[in-house]
Amino acid sequence: MAGAVGARIPGMTRVFSGIQPTGEPHIGNYFGAMRNYVRLGEQYGQDAIYCIVDLHAPTNPLAYDPATLARLTFDMALANMSVGLDPEKVVFFVQSQVREHSELGWIFTLQTPVGELERMTQYKDKAGKLESIPAGLLMYPVLQAADILLYKADTVPVGEDQVQHIELTREIARRFNHTHGQTFPEPKAVLEKDALRVPGMDGQGKMSKSKGDTSTMGVLESMDSIWGKLRTSPTDPARVRRTDPGNPDVCLVFDYHKLFSDDTTLLEVADGCRTAGIGCIDCKKRLMTGIERELTPIQARASELRARPDDVLGGLAHGAERARAIAAPVMDEVRSKMGFLG
Ligand code: SF4
Repeated sequence: MAGAVGARIPGMTRVFSGIQPTGEPHIGNYFGAMRNYVRLGEQYGQDAIYCIVDLHAPTNPLAYDPATLARLTFDMALANMSVGLDPEKVVFFVQSQVREHSELGWIFTLQTPVGELERMTQYKDKAGKLESIPAGLLMYPVLQAADILLYKADTVPVGEDQVQHIELTREIARRFNHTHGQTFPEPKAVLEKDALRVPGMDGQGKMSKSKGDTSTMGVLESMDSIWGKLRTSPTDPARVRRTDPGNPDVCLVFDYHKLFSDDTTLLEVADGCRTAGIGCIDCKKRLMTGIERELTPIQARASELRARPDDVLGGLAHGAERARAIAAPVMDEVRSKMGFLG
């Protein structure tokens, strides 16, 4: 769960993070981002702003399904609340419920050169897979800049793949300030631990939803389902027979132990592996103990919350109100500087 409450980070006054509504998160999201959100929320209270960015979802037609978006948005809210994000403590809301995001996004669209957007690596990757490219896909990082600057946030925890977008956000802020006078801070990216590079359960690189269910260990996944994947997941390939000594440093099961097991278990498992004192199935069973210890309380909270959906929706509505209270004066300032009739 969340780490101890610490002092504020020097130079950081307001933190913003956008959360993709991808449904139930996996343990890479949990260790890389979600626990950090809770920790920052303890430190920053209502200066920790977390937004489920549902307006971004339709920009990629390959990944968007209108029939499921509302459910995925709800599930992502529920998962974060189950992990410990308290909508009373932080500002936690859904992007489409705060209209100012779209308005500021449009204003930034007016001022952002198309050439800068076309250089974005993520755009090139996604556009390359499409026959017809929606303009919204190109504008994605402009809306992202609006998400952040609407709250004058100065710090944005992101994965490595988003750093380029935060650079663009800084450029957008600079351009607006240059034209209209100082208005926005230039936010800096703070690298999430890249989901701690949690390996996929199939042993094929980093854990990722896009690679399908066999790669991921869901935070809300049943223990039976997790065990089903773990039981068959690859281990040290050099350890062919039970009597062969293994090398935990090349085994993804040991990587998971580092996340879930206590120090004593870690030492015992590493030693047992190297001396062939423990078999891989026993090693995996010991890992399951740690997984259960970590995820069972979260899953219990998720079940409780799922039985009270109005609590989740009410928390988000409350968050949207708080978000609007911050966003409204910023938009008043922007509209006035843009020359719109107030
Ligand atoms: Fe991996 Fe554990 Fe088997 Fe060693 S004993 S190879 S760490 S599963």
